[in-house]
Amino acid sequence: MSRRYEKKMIKVDKVIKCDEFIKCDCCGREKKGSDWGDNCFHEAETVVMIRDGDIYPEGDYTKTVEVDLCPPCFKSKLIPFLSSIGCDVRTNFEKEEGL
Ligand SMILES: [Zn+2]
Repeated sequence: MSRRYEKKMIKVDKVIKCDEFIKCDCCGREKKGSDWGDNCFHEAETVVMIRDGDIYPEGDYTKTVEVDLCPPCFKSKLIPFLSSIGCDVRTNFEKEEGL
């Protein structure tokens, strides 16, 4: 699975710092970090992607098409659209015991 991140250069005093941001390709919302979660205990990851191609011992050629969507756009725009064209949208709940 691949993920596309945008990098922004932020100048802090005279030191240049590079942070990772996710940007929603639909509404433009940005989030610093590697997922859309609001804090370290909240995970919110969205994936809309296809990777298609040929894999040979001497080399691979694949093409990836992907869109980054924030959770609100995923839920309020993509899911209703997929349902409207007849997709069976499933919801799965997971619980994992901690320490
Ligand atoms: Zn969005």
